Amino acid sequence: MADIINLLPDNIANQIAAGEVIQRPASAVKELLENAVDAGATEIQLIIRDAGKELVQVIDNGGGMSETDARMCFERHATSKIKTINDLFEIRTMGFRGEALASIAAVAQVELKTRKTGSPVGTYIEIDNSVVRKQEPCQTAEGTSIAMKNLFFNVPARRNFLKSNAAELRHIVDEFIRVAMAFPQLQFTFTSNNQQVFYLEKGSLKQRIIAILGQHYNSRLVTVKESTDYLNVHGFVGKPETAKKTRGDQFFFVNNRFIKSPYLHHAIMSAFAELIPADSFPHYSLFIDLDPAHVDINVHPTKQEIKFEDDKILYAFVQSAVKHALAQFNVTPALDFNLDPGIQQLDAVSKPFTEQQQQRSANSSLYKTFTQANQAHIIDKSNNTSNLKHWKDLYEIGKTDLGTGSRGSDMPAMPETPAFVNRPSTASVIDDSWQDTTATDQKVPVQVHQQYILSQIKSGFILIDQQAAHERILYERYLRALQDKPMPTQQSLFPQTLQLLPQDAALIAEMLPDLQTLGYDMEPFGNHTFVVRGTPADIQSGNEQASIEGLLEQFKHFSAELKINKREQLVRSMARNNAIPAGKVLAPREMQNIIDELFACSMPNVSPGGKFTYVSFKLADLAKMFDRGN
Ligand code: ADP
Ligand code: MG
Repeated sequence: MADIINLLPDNIANQIAAGEVIQRPASAVKELLENAVDAGATEIQLIIRDAGKELVQVIDNGGGMSETDARMCFERHATSKIKTINDLFEIRTMGFRGEALASIAAVAQVELKTRKTGSPVGTYIEIDNSVVRKQEPCQTAEGTSIAMKNLFFNVPARRNFLKSNAAELRHIVDEFIRVAMAFPQLQFTFTSNNQQVFYLEKGSLKQRIIAILGQHYNSRLVTVKESTDYLNVHGFVGKPETAKKTRGDQFFFVNNRFIKSPYLHHAIMSAFAELIPADSFPHYSLFIDLDPAHVDINVHPTKQEIKFEDDKILYAFVQSAVKHALAQFNVTPALDFNLDPGIQQLDAVSKPFTEQQQQRSANSSLYKTFTQANQAHIIDKSNNTSNLKHWKDLYEIGKTDLGTGSRGSDMPAMPETPAFVNRPSTASVIDDSWQDTTATDQKVPVQVHQQYILSQIKSGFILIDQQAAHERILYERYLRALQDKPMPTQQSLFPQTLQLLPQDAALIAEMLPDLQTLGYDMEPFGNHTFVVRGTPADIQSGNEQASIEGLLEQFKHFSAELKINKREQLVRSMARNNAIPAGKVLAPREMQNIIDELFACSMPNVSPGGKFTYVSFKLADLAKMFDRGN
């Protein structure tokens, strides 16, 4: 038998290995930016085209490379940052594995220009598919420029896996922000399709946070600073009022490296626990510095996860540092100046609703009655879908109608009663003409707590969650708009100018064609500004800014939480954003419209996010509840 084992050719081995480091354009952005930081640059430019699919280029004014190094840097395991395994425990640089450039060169076309500080000439190298195509001396500024073109041109399967431009751009913006946030003392610029997205001047961390996340953080950041022999933490948390419904403005750095740590995130959230609503996220940019010997950053190829020698110490430390900062700063504005400290210390003031209190009410039998399964009012999931096929039957008010009981027949007919009184049931005992009446003559729905719509049906009644139901209606409407006919636009009397954060403007630019189909008449106006001339006909005018900002928030929320395509994401975001909220008073007509439209949907029973839109209460169950069953 012939031997069958081969050594893989270098370029294939590199391509396979590259999969770990370079998954998408944003991975290259991260690696190239980190290399520039490691090279001691003070000014770093990021240039991309076509969401990085066509070009990712980073230009820095750092130390540059010699001719030999320029050639060497593309070899696998070629690094200037460690020499022995022990160096791993003293790492102060961003990179150290010597894999990034080799990986990039294996899956893209790369052009490198570099000149070492003090050297008269620079080096130009062109390399693709791990093969050097050209190498020659060149004139270039001190520092390094690396351009990665046509990512995955030689691995079509992986190129096809890249997401829409909006999604890839968002990943790039995230990586850029993470590096830029970690090094406020360096200048960063970011240009996408020849448009400047960011120009970040050197400055303090606070200035950097505001430059990236927006002016409204200006007076809303609380300083965090604690030092011990073992570790230091410093940075900022947003005041509770800045907490958002969506994640995204949370940054954790360990020795200046951005990391994702659900564990430490939890520590911060618990410090905020009673200050912000559940399901909302405060801003934080926190830097932990500790001896590199106490952390292992080499547990993950992209180094976003790390291992600490002692997690628990870190958790407790971070939690108390944030608590301390919040307490010192006395984040409740009303308490800031008006009350004397004695009052502020009172439990009732400092702890509005403790965990024990919450627990106590959750254990109460009253609470359980309303939340436990197998209670009559809980929706029966099993036959829920089969009911839906016959939703029309639900609305034919039949002989079992509630109103036909003795009380109904005792009531005198009241011809001039207002519309919301139970007319059909009274009528039913008098004659049968109600059977022919149109929908408006049916039982009028009733709004409950400005949140639910109670509507009587043949077999009992249903309780509709107005917001979830409207979300479903809009979702299907918008989907249809994208599929066959564009949504009508309502032209605004006065065009509105929208000034957006740079990263948001870039996102909107990518979503523009779809937004137009969905009824937004808007175009870019330079400098992160858009002019909005019209909005989808079902949005109230005057709300253009809020509607688009809400849309962006939702869009980011979905791209963080779910893997769904961009259009789906956009449609869901719009539905969520434009749905009638809980708390809105509805006229009977509006409620009836919601009911009619909901049950004309192809999937009326759940919201696009998977929540129930209504719960049905059956007469039989009601009878049981009232002990009428037998
Ligand atoms: P690592 O950063 O892990 O060392 P890379 O593949 O990213 O590995 O880079 C390999 C080497 O190339 C680096 O160790 C560094 O010496 C050199 N290098 C990369 N980018 C630059 C740059 N922008 N300026 C100067 N040297 C660089
Ligand atoms: Mg590197």
